Amino acid sequence: MSKLGLVAVLLLLLLGDSASVFAQNVDITGVRFGKNGATTRFVMDVSEPVKPRIFMLANPRRLVIDIPNSNWKSQKTAKASGLVGKYRHGLFSADTYRIVLDLNKAAVIRKSFSLPASKGYSNRYVIDLAESSQSDFLAAVKSSKPQITKTVAQVPSVEPVQKSYDGKRIIVVDAGHGGPDPGTLGRYGSNEKILTLKISREIKRELERTGRYRVYLTRDKDIYIPHRKRFEIAKRMGADLFISVHVDSIANSKVRGGTVYTLNENASDKEAARLAAKENKSDILAGVDLAETNNEVSSILIDLAQRETMNNSAQFAEILVPEMRRQVKMHRRGHRFANFLVLKSPDVPSVLIETGYQTNKQDARMLNSRDGQRRIAKAVSAGVNKYFDLQIALGR
Ligand SMILES: [Zn+2]
Repeated sequence: MSKLGLVAVLLLLLLGDSASVFAQNVDITGVRFGKNGATTRFVMDVSEPVKPRIFMLANPRRLVIDIPNSNWKSQKTAKASGLVGKYRHGLFSADTYRIVLDLNKAAVIRKSFSLPASKGYSNRYVIDLAESSQSDFLAAVKSSKPQITKTVAQVPSVEPVQKSYDGKRIIVVDAGHGGPDPGTLGRYGSNEKILTLKISREIKRELERTGRYRVYLTRDKDIYIPHRKRFEIAKRMGADLFISVHVDSIANSKVRGGTVYTLNENASDKEAARLAAKENKSDILAGVDLAETNNEVSSILIDLAQRETMNNSAQFAEILVPEMRRQVKMHRRGHRFANFLVLKSPDVPSVLIETGYQTNKQDARMLNSRDGQRRIAKAVSAGVNKYFDLQIALGR
C-alpha cells in the first residue's frame, strides 16, 4: 500500500464514529445581538444543536466562532450592538463556517451555552460577552490560542505536481478574499469576493484555451484562504506565475481604471500604500491569527532569490498593462508597487491586478458583466503569452 493510502486508512480508523457524527449539516438561520448593561448577548439560531469552537484574537480585538459542518441560511442582516461593532461570516475551510465579531472594547466571554428548541424558537447558541480589562482580554486570547493554530492548519492542502511533465507552464490564479472576508462591498453589484472568483475562472478558461498552460485556482468557491497559504499553494504547484485578482474601492466615485501591482517594500505612491494596507487586512477580517506568520514572511524578503523574482514580476506587469489597456480602462500609471503580503512568494513571479473600482458606476458595470470579465481574461491571457514568449527567447 502506498504511504498516502496507509495514511488515509489510519485517518478513517481514527475518525471512525466521529466522522459520521460530523457528517450532518447544520443550518444557521439567523443571528441576533442584544445589550444588557455591560453585557452583550450574541444569539445564533441553528437547525441542530452545535458545539462551535470559539476563540479570541488581539490586534484588532476579535471573537471568532467556528461552526463545523454548517451552512448560512439567513436572509436577514442583524445589526451589531453593544461590545460588537461589526461582524462578518463565511466559509473558512471545507468543513467550517466562521463568524467573526469585531469587538469595540476589551471583553471576555462570561458564559456560552446551548438552548433547545422551544415555543416558536429554534435551537440556539448563546454567547454572553462582558466588558473587561485589557489584561483579562489578553489572558482570554492566550488561553484560546491552541485552537487557533489547529484552525489555520486546516486549510485544504494541495498535492505537489510533477513540474513540466508535459512541458506546460504552470499558472496559479488567486481570487482575492472569500468566506468571512467579503473584500470591497458591491455598491452596484456583487461583493469583491464574488467578482474575483468569476474573473479568475474566466482567466483560467482563457489561459487553458491556448493549450500552453496548466492553470490552478487557489480557491474555486466562496471560502477564505490565508495570504501565506495562497503563495504556498503557488510554490507547491511549482508555479511559473502567480496572479492575484482584486477589485478596488475609493471614496471618489469618479476614480476608475485598473492597475497591476508588484511587490516592493517601498510603495510607489501614497495611494498604493493605502491599498496594500487595506488588502493586507484580509487575514484580519477573516479571523486569522497573524502572530506566528509575520516573522517568517519578513525573513523571506531578505532572501536574495527574491530579487530575480521581483524583476520577473515587474517585467510581466510591464507586458500586461498595455494588453489590459487594449481591453479595459486602466489607470494612467498602470503599473505600481506596494508591499502586498500575498505577493511575497520568494521564487514565484507574482502580480496583483486591481481590475477596477466598485465605487465607479462604469467600472462596476464592466466588472459585473460576463463581457467585462472575459475582456479582462483575454488581456491577461495575451500578456501571459507575451511574457512566456520572451522567457523562451531568453532561454528561461
Ligand atoms: Zn482585494
